Amino acid sequence: SHRITLGPLVAAIDQGTSSTRFLVFNSKTAELLSHHQVEIKQSFPKEGWVEEDPKEILQSVYECMERTCEKLMQHNIDISNIKAIGVTNQRETTLVWDKETGEPLYNAIVWLDLRTQSTVERLINKTPGRNKNHLRHKTGLPISTYFSAVKLRWLMDNVSEVHEAVMSHRAMFGTVDSWLIWCLTGGKSGGVHCTDVTNASRTMLFNIHTMNWDPELCKYFGIPMEILPRVRSSSEIYGLMKSGALSGIPISGCLGDQSAALVGQMCFKDGQAKNTYGTGCFLLRNTGSKPVMSDHGLLTTVAYKLGRDKPACYALEGSVAIAGAVVRWLQDNLGIIGSSEELEKLAASVGTSYGCYFVPAFSGLYAPYWEPSARGIICGLTQFTNKSHVAFAALEAVCFQTREILDAMNQDSGIPLNQLQVDGGMTSNRLLMQLQADILCIPVVKPSMPETTALGAAMAAGAAEGVSVWSLNPEDLSEVTSEKFEPQINPEESEFRYARWKKAVEKSKNWET
Ligand code: ADP
Repeated sequence: SHRITLGPLVAAIDQGTSSTRFLVFNSKTAELLSHHQVEIKQSFPKEGWVEEDPKEILQSVYECMERTCEKLMQHNIDISNIKAIGVTNQRETTLVWDKETGEPLYNAIVWLDLRTQSTVERLINKTPGRNKNHLRHKTGLPISTYFSAVKLRWLMDNVSEVHEAVMSHRAMFGTVDSWLIWCLTGGKSGGVHCTDVTNASRTMLFNIHTMNWDPELCKYFGIPMEILPRVRSSSEIYGLMKSGALSGIPISGCLGDQSAALVGQMCFKDGQAKNTYGTGCFLLRNTGSKPVMSDHGLLTTVAYKLGRDKPACYALEGSVAIAGAVVRWLQDNLGIIGSSEELEKLAASVGTSYGCYFVPAFSGLYAPYWEPSARGIICGLTQFTNKSHVAFAALEAVCFQTREILDAMNQDSGIPLNQLQVDGGMTSNRLLMQLQADILCIPVVKPSMPETTALGAAMAAGAAEGVSVWSLNPEDLSEVTSEKFEPQINPEESEFRYARWKKAVEKSKNWET
């Protein structure tokens, strides 16, 4: 059998909240050559708690890598052409493991988890003027259940294994990127304990101006600095794969998933933005070399730093906790759909929510409100309302939440976006994309290669290994094919529905107080 020659290939591990993927791209064309995907189980041991098993996460990565390599070999593609591997991951999700045994000391506490709500309220009450923005000048973030520091504090206070490992200097903390890189580069026998600046910027322990762990923040949360990973840029060689079919290949890119999508969508210029619809929904706008502080409830975060000697770029971010997660809820908890694909058909069968509004504040409200005590509501129900209307309202909720973020973003920057670049698992829903254009009153543009998060991580990995991926070259940008959804309803109709949504949001607030 003959081998196909393709030139260098770049790969990415995409470890998301709902699934893990491994993807291999041709660096010359950015074409996706092969991939494999495995679902990740989430457990909800108590109300508001969300956990995942660190070993299952790691296993899923190995499985995706092996299966993808098999598929490549079946297509006569030589896997030794893979020159670099990037890691992109669900952000904030918090793990602690024992560096001597290599064993996790508790499940991963997922970013959405609410168990730290009372801790967060206590911390806010202790600040001058009960100000949730007390640490924002250093971190760019409000004090919230969302970020890693409070989850780590909870683990140290409530899990004796974690407490003991910290006391005996055997504990390592990390977000999912750190856990994976440590394990893949050898684990307890010489694994590299590191993270990148984008992931670090979501912990609340990282100073986004000095680009280092901040001793004062660590003291504030009572976190010993020795358990923290070393912070590196998003594009440099961290270590080599220690085992498996890809043994010896450098891991040379690392970006939190939302940063990776920004890179994969090639939003390298100040003012460029993208919105990713996965479990949650995240709109990031590149603000260049300046960290811009929001007056409208957005986060300031590190967008990327593509090389040790390259400057850091920052972004304003609007984070929505529940987007695709509401689809899973309709499926698993209410049983009104059998799969996420069925949602589109069900909602399209009515084409309206018939005045029903669904605020899925399951984990409180994130941007722009930051209200941990909000809870979900479905309102505006009548005798006429049926499951199709509820399904439609769920899709509309994702669009309204994006509208709130976009409004905040436009107010903060003073320059309105004239179209929205989108990606993520939910964008395969065409009804959602059309609704989004209708509710924003601007066009929504979706690239035909949907795996932008993985592409971003592969690009970062390739750059460190001297393999420039096609799309880093601006002349090639014209080759990016995409689909455009134009607004189709009149702006008055859109405003009317948005005003109703705002009223529904008010009803969801202050529920758990
Ligand atoms: P993550 O990176 O957070 O794991 P993905 O980008 O993989 O998320 O997207 C998965 C999410 O998208 C799931 O929550 C799923 O319910 C939702 N989803 C996938 N396909 C559709 C669809 N056709 N309509 C609506 N939601 C969908």
